[in-house]
Amino acid sequence: MLNKMKAVLKSEADKAMHWLRRCNGADNLGLTIIIAALILVLLGRLLRLQALTLLSAALYLWAFYRMLSHNVAKRHEENRRFTELLQKCRTELGQGFTRLKNIRKYKYYRCPNCKSRLRMPRGIGEKTVTCSRCGHSFKKKA
Ligand SMILES: [Zn+2]
Repeated sequence: MLNKMKAVLKSEADKAMHWLRRCNGADNLGLTIIIAALILVLLGRLLRLQALTLLSAALYLWAFYRMLSHNVAKRHEENRRFTELLQKCRTELGQGFTRLKNIRKYKYYRCPNCKSRLRMPRGIGEKTVTCSRCGHSFKKKA
């Protein structure tokens, strides 16, 4: 009797482990969602806003849905897009800080043709600038 119960428990445990192995698990997007939910729940308590607490509950559900999802390919694609967006934001933020740091030394502008960011040392007067990206030439004063 005891051996039969042990065998049934082992079989059920094996099934559960097999099911868990097929899950997506925690990834960057999932962890970010949980951190956002945590921040929202704290803000909700601090500001006494029930709506933020409800929103954080929805975020927790979304995060757990993603972690337990068996559609791993789709979850990986979502995570890849999120990571790409995060990297783009980090780059923009970093470049923004650099521009702010050097704003007295350089004048920043965009190429009228391809919209890439260019810079020119301040105080050199009007010059003909050639965009390094597209080769478009135009006059600019710095
Ligand atoms: Zn250009």
